[in-house]
Amino acid sequence: MIELQHVSKTFENAGGRVDALRDVSLTIADGDIYGIIGMSGAGKSTLVRCINMLERPTEGRVIVNGQQLDAMTPAQLRAARREITMIFQRFNLLMQRTCLQNICFPMELAGVGRKEAQAKARQLLELVGLPDKAQAYPAQLSGGQQQRIAIARALATNPKVLLCDEATSALDPKTTRQILELIQDINRKLGITVVVITHQMSVVKEICTHVAILDDGEVVENGLVSAVFSAP
Ligand code: ADP
Ligand code: ADP
Repeated sequence: MIELQHVSKTFENAGGRVDALRDVSLTIADGDIYGIIGMSGAGKSTLVRCINMLERPTEGRVIVNGQQLDAMTPAQLRAARREITMIFQRFNLLMQRTCLQNICFPMELAGVGRKEAQAKARQLLELVGLPDKAQAYPAQLSGGQQQRIAIARALATNPKVLLCDEATSALDPKTTRQILELIQDINRKLGITVVVITHQMSVVKEICTHVAILDDGEVVENGLVSAVFSAP
């Protein structure tokens, strides 16, 4: 479970002061597919960066699986980060490495032996529907296929949470639907909690169970998708 309690984040720099998040409280339960929707600048990236611990809230608390982020030891923080992985709009694959090597990379960092890592990577290639792309380089793949490899890489450390930051925004509608189906499949099969950041309502309606609408750093509405978006 992910809990944000009265989280505020203020950036101060030469340009002045920006309240990126204002008193945000959210509970994301295990197994949810939770959408965070809002316009550009609403605070969506800042919110997920607080969940994956790249950003420390100015105020409030972030509690992931019962552990409070700022109370963790460095070792706990490293372990927690492996459990919260992320995919991006621009895939962020290593272009000089094969797909198999890309998927093995986070396992290498975690100290998994080479044989074991490769076996796991092959299972993951199977799961994302690209068993024959182990030796291909990312540049040889379509955008949708590259995102599948990025998803396989994100799953390599057996995460409990998958954060998707505009993960389908660079894809055409048909490929978007296929990637969303894969994410839904992973949520169901592996029981992974998914947080989806998007500016597209259609993405939320397609796969999310819950949604929070962010506007200028504030959660203006949240709850079950069926309740938030139901016709009056
Ligand atoms: P979104 O992801 O919804 O587009 P962001 O979380 O990226 O929104 O940004 C929210 C606000 O915080 C914006 O006004 C943005 O310019 C500002 N912001 C984000 N990161 C920083 C930073 N590191 N320094 C200063 N301002 C920032
Ligand atoms: P997006 O909205 O797609 O997440 P942005 O271009 O807003 O991307 O932000 C990209 C990166 O730049 C993020 O890490 C964000 O924290 C940082 N950032 C955004 N706005 C500012 C800003 N005004 N000053 C400094 N860093 C910023």
